[in-house]
Amino acid sequence: MKLPEVGEKGQKLLAEATVLAVGVGGLGCASLPWLVRAGVGRIVIMDPGVVDEPDLGRQLLYRVEDIGESKAMVSARVLSRMNPLVEVLPANVALDANSIGHFASTASVILDGTDRLEPRRIINAFSVATSIPWVYGGAVGWAGSVLASGANGPCWECVFGNEPAPPSCDEAGVIGPAVGWVGATQAAQVLRIILGEVIGGQLLTADLLRSNFRTLGVKRNPVCPICSTDAQKK
Ligand SMILES: [Zn+2]
Repeated sequence: MKLPEVGEKGQKLLAEATVLAVGVGGLGCASLPWLVRAGVGRIVIMDPGVVDEPDLGRQLLYRVEDIGESKAMVSARVLSRMNPLVEVLPANVALDANSIGHFASTASVILDGTDRLEPRRIINAFSVATSIPWVYGGAVGWAGSVLASGANGPCWECVFGNEPAPPSCDEAGVIGPAVGWVGATQAAQVLRIILGEVIGGQLLTADLLRSNFRTLGVKRNPVCPICSTDAQKK
């Protein structure tokens, strides 16, 4: 890759990295191809779901003939064909408080491709406990947001803990390019983390209806129930 930030050393870092993708719906379909094509060594995909007809509107790895098939299996097959040097391991398994340790403990980065708060809270608590960074992404309507969180900067709970749960894509709808923006931005954050950049403290947002793109500074909540010193002692 002819980029000064990557080079031979960066390419080696990418080849040695493992990304755990939790969910391969719209966001996973929009982020994982970039990681595969960049040469991330190993990608583990967790998703217990099957391809459904409405998914085809925004989940770019699937086709009509995949309806009813396992998302983890189909996406792994499609991604493997993009770059045979990358090991793509599908797991037809839901993420929960028990399964995360088994799948995430060897990950370099965890990529959030879910559309629900519960798995995000599990990933966030795991990330705070282990210092394994993760990249949150959310898209609804014409808007999206991305937060990379690790040892530096606030955790997801610091930033979103007190916000009301946003409507899901199924409830409120989402325009395909908003999913694409979030997925590509998540992929860029994952690559930066693997290449050794210290990231954190920035919430990236896009409103594609108004062409409004912002980088918001976000801070650690001193009484965060997950990452504050008091919470860590418990
Ligand atoms: Zn926190």
